[in-house]
Amino acid sequence: MRYRAVIFDLWETLIDWDREAATALGDEVAALVGGDFGERWSHSTTRYNAPIRVALAEAGVPAELHDVICALRLRHHRRSLIPRPGAVDTLRRLRETGYLVGLITVCSEDIEVLWPETEFAGLFDAEVFSSRVGLSKPDPRIYLHCCELLGVEPPQAVFVGDGANDELAGARRVGMDAILIHRDGEGPLWPGLEDWDGPRVTSIPGVLDVLE
Ligand SMILES: [Mg+2]
Repeated sequence: MRYRAVIFDLWETLIDWDREAATALGDEVAALVGGDFGERWSHSTTRYNAPIRVALAEAGVPAELHDVICALRLRHHRRSLIPRPGAVDTLRRLRETGYLVGLITVCSEDIEVLWPETEFAGLFDAEVFSSRVGLSKPDPRIYLHCCELLGVEPPQAVFVGDGANDELAGARRVGMDAILIHRDGEGPLWPGLEDWDGPRVTSIPGVLDVLE
C-alpha cells in the first residue's frame, strides 16, 4: 500500500453542506438575539475554534439565551450529519484493508457533541475537531496533530477533501498527498481548483479506486 492512513474532511466530503438549512438556522438564531448578531456571527473568529458558548458570548449573546441557541444548533446539525452514499461502507472497507482512517474538520463544538450518535461513530482511528483543538485548516499543526494521533508521518497519509479553507494545498505543505472531491457533473466548489493536478473523485467510494 502506498499510504498507511487516509484522512477525510467532513463538509462536502463525507456529508453535504445544506446551505438553505444553514441560512434558516442563522435566521432563527439572529431573530432570537436581535441587533446585528448575524453580522457579528459571520465574523466570529471563535465559532470554529472554541467551545460554542465562548463563541456565543464573544458575539455578544446574553448567557440566558445560550441554552436555547445550543438546542437549536444541535437540532440543525443532527439532521446534517448524514453520511453521503457509500461513505460508511468505504470507511469500513479502508480499515478492513489495513488503512488507518482519520478526520480533520473545521466545525463548531456541536459536531463533536453529536458525533457519538452519528453513523460515523467508531469508524475513525483519529478525529480532530477544530473547536476542540483550537486550530483550523490549513494550519500545519492541525494536520500534524492528526498524523501524530494516527502514529504516521505526513508522507504516509493522503487527505481527501473538497478544498475549503485551502485544505488540499495545506495538506501538501506538510508533506501529505491530497485527493479532491467534488459533485459528479459539477466542478470544484472553490476557486483555484479547476486545474487541480492531483487525483479527484466524485464520490467517497471513488477513493478506493484511487488508492488501488
Ligand atoms: Mg469541506
